[in-house]
Amino acid sequence: MSNESAVLDAIEIKKFGGELSEEMIRAVVAGYTDGVVPDYQMAPLLMAIFIRGMGYEETVALTRAMADSGERYSFPECVDKHSTGGVGDKISLTSLPIAAACGAPVAKLSGRGLGTTGGTIDKLESIPGFSCDLSKERMVRQVEEVGLAISEAGDLAPADKEIYALRDATGTVDSLPLIGSSIVSKKVATGAGHLLYDVKRGSGAFMKTTEDARELAGLLVRLSVSLGIRASALITDMDNPLGSAIGNALEVRESVRFLTGGEVPGDLSNEARHIAVRLLELKEISAPEEAVDNALSSGAAYGKLREFVRAQDGDADALEEMPVSGDVRVVAAPEGGYVAKFGASGVGRAALTLGAGRVKKGDKIDPGAGVELLVKVGDRIGEGEPVARLYGGRNADRAEALVREALEISEEPVEPPPAILDSL
Ligand code: URA
Repeated sequence: MSNESAVLDAIEIKKFGGELSEEMIRAVVAGYTDGVVPDYQMAPLLMAIFIRGMGYEETVALTRAMADSGERYSFPECVDKHSTGGVGDKISLTSLPIAAACGAPVAKLSGRGLGTTGGTIDKLESIPGFSCDLSKERMVRQVEEVGLAISEAGDLAPADKEIYALRDATGTVDSLPLIGSSIVSKKVATGAGHLLYDVKRGSGAFMKTTEDARELAGLLVRLSVSLGIRASALITDMDNPLGSAIGNALEVRESVRFLTGGEVPGDLSNEARHIAVRLLELKEISAPEEAVDNALSSGAAYGKLREFVRAQDGDADALEEMPVSGDVRVVAAPEGGYVAKFGASGVGRAALTLGAGRVKKGDKIDPGAGVELLVKVGDRIGEGEPVARLYGGRNADRAEALVREALEISEEPVEPPPAILDSL
């Protein structure tokens, strides 16, 4: 089947809600990646898929075709985790060194942040000298020697990169089979044999409701298992930012505080521990809770973070004094009461405004910019009490207004929401 005829046939079938064959899907994906199938044909096919949906077998075929569209790595012994993205999400910086210190090797490819969603690569690059540009050979060696390697995603699953950019420009991002196949194709191409999905739900997340998050989580696990990965998933809260720091260097600083036994908010410490336990369970490591506690209390998890930072050319000694912006502004509570919500979406936009993130791809970020929350849901506060610190010289007035809007105060006591909402 030629690529040109495959795409026309596929549009014809899908616009009436029919089912695409694996052969047809492979031909279309290969044709689009090679530039033989033009945007003006791929776009209506994506819209037909968006409207008509895809059956499970079609979704598996699309995932496999995108995973096979470029180079594939193989780390069958390794664990990885994938978060669908949130505000202040520093779970990779905290849970992965714990898992590696407990004997579960980690091979991870990660991305940069866009909009209010942070990216692990940007966070790591706020560490002086740190490089995320690892060749395949260096990554393999580092996994063997250190047990933890994180590299920028590079050229894996190039079909997904092309198709995602077109989806972004044609209003076809929010389709479950397209999201599921996009995420899992990159994971299959990365080749880690054990995978935990952390699907965030809430105002600061891609999925706004627990139901939608559960549906995506179910699809991610099912696709992964069909393609040979041992996988499980969690649904976690993203109505409020995770922990207190939002912004690259600030998040590294908070992660170091957690790994060195310092005080961090309960949502972060519970979630980081829980996800590390779940990663060890995927590897069938016995007594995982005890192993995680020991890795933290002995300093082994922090030692692993330092070893990993050194292996990727970073200055491990800088971890304890992470350089953050010297432009600091304190935001005070407009009234007294109980913190009912510190909305993740608003706080994320404040950090973005201060320069911690990118509005569009390629924007330059300020690694030392961001927001530090001084209160969490349920805390009792007095009028005029400091509730947040803003770091960074850009647009501080606007950022302050966003932080003020994000803070909801109740006269009645408020119970903090659970960080982990469901598990599958
Ligand atoms: N993240 C991805 O990698 N792909 C999507 O389609 C959506 C979120």
